[in-house]
Amino acid sequence: MSVLVVGSTALDSIKTPKSENPRLLGGSASHAAVAASFFSPVKLVGVVGDDFPSRYIQLYRRHGIDLEGLQRMPGKTFHWSGEYEVNMNNRRTLLTELGVFETFTPTLPKSYQQSEFVLLANIAPALQHHVLNQARRPKFVVADTMDLWLNIALPELLKLLRRLDGFVLNDSEAHQLTKEDNVFAAIRKIHKLGPRYVIIKKGSHGSILSSPKGLFICPAYPLSKVIDPTGAGDSFVGGMMGYLATARGSIDANIRRAMVYGSVVASFCCEGFGLMRTTRTKRSEIEKRVKELEKLTRF
Ligand code: AMP
Repeated sequence: MSVLVVGSTALDSIKTPKSENPRLLGGSASHAAVAASFFSPVKLVGVVGDDFPSRYIQLYRRHGIDLEGLQRMPGKTFHWSGEYEVNMNNRRTLLTELGVFETFTPTLPKSYQQSEFVLLANIAPALQHHVLNQARRPKFVVADTMDLWLNIALPELLKLLRRLDGFVLNDSEAHQLTKEDNVFAAIRKIHKLGPRYVIIKKGSHGSILSSPKGLFICPAYPLSKVIDPTGAGDSFVGGMMGYLATARGSIDANIRRAMVYGSVVASFCCEGFGLMRTTRTKRSEIEKRVKELEKLTRF
């Protein structure tokens, strides 16, 4: 089973206290698609401009990502720039240039419309709706978001929540959405908005799932050195959806393990700029870290 991924396909310029890396391959959909590709075939929906380097197209291809839904339009690729402090949990957006995303209308090729696993990675909620309108009978639809959409597109986001199976957001966004300081109280409120599966990301502290089968606390892989956490959240949800799409059995039977796989792919993402480390990762390295996490959390 393949995963349909829509989101931003971007050029990211990332500044850390130690170095600057301009125009890396980035975007929520790029990170999520590469992460999912370790486990299942991926169909990508996005848009790039005529400045998008062909080596990035080749990189998607090397991961077996179906690019029929990736549009190339005259103009500039979405460009995002961010700067990290010494404490990598603190990031500031320096620049967001929408470029070709400003006029983008995602269209699902016929071969994408039957996709059962749909990941609406971070992008304007109106575009997430538009993709969902074209999916025929999806089995499991999950969306991610960011603080920007809570600020400027809340009505569309609330409408989207009613159409989702799963919603993934970080703890500060959960607080922003529900005004609850307590994460478990926030989760209850989010369930009332629609999704049966709510996943709260807590950065290097892992994530929490609330589902019809109860709560699950998913660990983050303990890294002693983080190079660039950009895209870790997208890698987490991409890895999770990729794993779910190929696992046999029900969502409930597999989602905990799927989150652990997502968590491990996210750990590789943090060990290099942009997608540099993730794209060099071998499946055997992923399995090794999953086993380590299993040992670390068994009691
Ligand atoms: P994360 O580190 O999980 O917050 O994701 C970072 C990725 O989100 C980067 O690769 C950016 O290109 C992408 N991004 C940043 N701002 C936006 C936005 N407004 N819409 C969509 N994607 C964005």
